[in-house]
Amino acid sequence: MSMKIAVYPGSFDPITYGHLDIIERGLKVFDEIIVAVACNSQKNSLFTFDERVALIRDVLKDERRVTVDTFTGLLIDYVSARQAHVIIRGLRAISDFEYEFQIAQMNSCIGKGVETLFMMTSLQYGYLSSSIVKEVCSLNGNIDGFVPPEVKAALKAKFGLH
Ligand code: ADP
Repeated sequence: MSMKIAVYPGSFDPITYGHLDIIERGLKVFDEIIVAVACNSQKNSLFTFDERVALIRDVLKDERRVTVDTFTGLLIDYVSARQAHVIIRGLRAISDFEYEFQIAQMNSCIGKGVETLFMMTSLQYGYLSSSIVKEVCSLNGNIDGFVPPEVKAALKAKFGLH
């Protein structure tokens, strides 16, 4: 039987418990998940591309069914090159929907046979985003419930906090 592989793309600036929850639940459906960090020069990220990748590798080092990779250019080309047929995306509020819908429609037009699968956020992470974690951390708020300890340490170092 062939392996069921899904690609979970994103900026992951940085990875949060919301992302990890999608990965954990995705592993109940797929044999392998490729976490694909987008090298998107248009987005202003706090962490460099390499830092984002290193943090995800660190956090997921014990998960043998997860591979961390990077991609540039069209996601759909990357997915085909990896011989995967499914893209996983998470949905939080209605505000995610418009954007995700547009991308999924475009990808289904230009990608051959690649499906986008949406997973609803878990109740406790519905409000959680990398942006809000960065904001709270920069103001020295407690982010223990939102990111793993490695990510918390990296965020604090970025903002020069102890
Ligand atoms: P992008 O810039 O591609 O949106 P993100 O790193 O912000 O990258 O998000 C990657 C994916 O993870 C998106 O599908 C996003 O909706 C999903 N995601 C992020 N945070 C959560 C969360 N708290 N619950 C569910 N899905 C989430």
